[in-house]
Amino acid sequence: NTPKIAIVGAGIAGLSCTKRLKDAGLDTVLFDKSRGPAGRMSTRRGDDWQCDHGAQYFTARDPAFRAEVARWQAAGVADLWQPRLAILGGAETREPDQGHERFVGVPRMTAPARHLADGLPLSAQTTIQTLHCGPDGWCLSSIEQGVLATRFDAILLAVPAPQAEPLLRVPAPRLAALAGRAVMRGSWALMLRYDAPLTLAFDAAFVNAGPLRWVARDNSKPGRGPQETWLLHASATWSEAHIEDSPEAVAAALLQAFIKLGAPAPQAWTAHRWRYADTEPALDNVCAWDADLRIGLCGDWLNGGKVEGAWQSGQRLAEQLMQSLAWPGNTSP
Ligand code: FAD
Repeated sequence: NTPKIAIVGAGIAGLSCTKRLKDAGLDTVLFDKSRGPAGRMSTRRGDDWQCDHGAQYFTARDPAFRAEVARWQAAGVADLWQPRLAILGGAETREPDQGHERFVGVPRMTAPARHLADGLPLSAQTTIQTLHCGPDGWCLSSIEQGVLATRFDAILLAVPAPQAEPLLRVPAPRLAALAGRAVMRGSWALMLRYDAPLTLAFDAAFVNAGPLRWVARDNSKPGRGPQETWLLHASATWSEAHIEDSPEAVAAALLQAFIKLGAPAPQAWTAHRWRYADTEPALDNVCAWDADLRIGLCGDWLNGGKVEGAWQSGQRLAEQLMQSLAWPGNTSP
């Protein structure tokens, strides 16, 4: 009998894991509470504009992930981004990821996730609420559908630690404790639209003073349209201190800081609050697997806190599960 595996979370970690398992012949079902895949590799879309408001770019230091990115490039869903980059404010002059290539999804950040999800059995708009391990396997319930009829031989959670912890508390307290140790911080994002291109001397900048941490001209990324669109991210410290503020108050503060950098006021703005943006510090477990209970965890928070680490975490969890089930096909892609 082919084991049935449930994966919760269709971000890059859950997609990486599910694809690996499905390619090896396992029977997989992937659940996500959102309308589509991608998680924090996300893009907001309006009538005539779009803007990546989560992950901004990703690196590919690891050869296996670089090979995966090469496949995405060949499929036309990722490309190099070479912005005019500045470092502004404060004493820090070294740019993060210096010397490393920066990749983005094309024509938007969600594209690699959608590419991976193509052909995977994704049950969208399904918010998993409880996990129960019974004599005939794992039983799941969701907010939208109640108790699901299918029983699973293993369950893998690919969700941020604070969302994994309450699901794990009863059925897997050891893993719940691990998730409880990961501290995830929020981030405010502000998307700006302009009628004409700005005349700033940079397309993207790390900002080391004031409320901002990062600003980027979204339409300087490959494959975007002509609409002049900028993304501002507040620093983690500022975001955490202002996480309950109104979007209007946040927009006013971040716009003032952007105007100080030489930008004009925008024609329109949209604010987005990320409750769980990054993990500080990210754990270095890579993934977690309980062979007795047949439940596992993957995600960026277990492996460096970035897109690349999330993808690797999903791969490693798939390998551990296949090893534990003595399932053939446990080789690198
Ligand atoms: P996620 O992408 O969060 O996926 C988890 C999925 O689980 C989501 O789709 C969610 O809907 C789903 N889910 C949660 N709970 C449930 C439930 N109960 N039932 C069903 N589904 C559920 N990384 C970089 O490499 N470079 C960057 O420049 C960068 N900048 C960032 C900026 C911001 C503002 C943010 C928010 C993140 C940034 N990151 C960056 C981090 C990067 O986005 C993440 O590391 C990566 O996308 C995490 O992938 P994941 O699969 O682990 O989690």
